[in-house]
Amino acid sequence: MPTLPDLLHGDDDFLPERALVIVAHPDDIDFGTAGTVATLTDHGVEVVYGLVTSGQAGEPAELSAEDLADIRQAEQAAAGKVVGVTELHWLGFPDGAVESTLELRKAISRLIRMVKPDLVITQTPERNWDRIYAAHPDHLATGEAVVSAVYPDARNAKSYPELLDEGYEPHAVSRIWLMAGTDHNLRVDISAALDRKIDALLEHHSQNDARADVLPGMIREWAGDNAKASGIAGATAVESFRAVNTE
Ligand SMILES: [Zn+2]
Repeated sequence: MPTLPDLLHGDDDFLPERALVIVAHPDDIDFGTAGTVATLTDHGVEVVYGLVTSGQAGEPAELSAEDLADIRQAEQAAAGKVVGVTELHWLGFPDGAVESTLELRKAISRLIRMVKPDLVITQTPERNWDRIYAAHPDHLATGEAVVSAVYPDARNAKSYPELLDEGYEPHAVSRIWLMAGTDHNLRVDISAALDRKIDALLEHHSQNDARADVLPGMIREWAGDNAKASGIAGATAVESFRAVNTE
């Protein structure tokens, strides 16, 4: 079995020990980074999920927002198990109306101080014009709030002094890996994890059952094209990120 450094292709020798993935909606993790999550947990990295909304504005239209939130939380928990994640935190912000407010930055700062990750994986705050569906406004707002929470909020004792009163001490994250962006500088060889990424995606039954026959092929094609573009010898599937040093 390859070691973790064999699978992380960037110009950085950083190796995470504890990662926090923060996204806007259930299934964002599984489309963007479940292969990387599985690769990390395979090599002993603890991974925790934080979700800004519960996806309550998704399909199907006939379900109430409350019922859909329950279903989607359960689906995300099942998807997490497939890739070795059992700790999930739901921040409870409204789906379809996420803004990078101080309230959201505070909630994310609290989570960072609670989980104490050295790596945070999130959505890029920059709109990628080549992938417009990845640039949902909730994704951009989540990315902006997460980056602001990593630097400066979570490490600054003077940000949200009430967090100190709650017992959450400042914490500095070492790296952010941004998904769905441009100018990637980190490629993760997920060849051994691709089947689990697909299985995790298929756990989101409420969103994916109607396309369950085509989704695996789509994901294999994306990951395969990414692998070819990466030039990594022997890789058949790759997820790419913009890694940012936040030490
Ligand atoms: Zn989303």
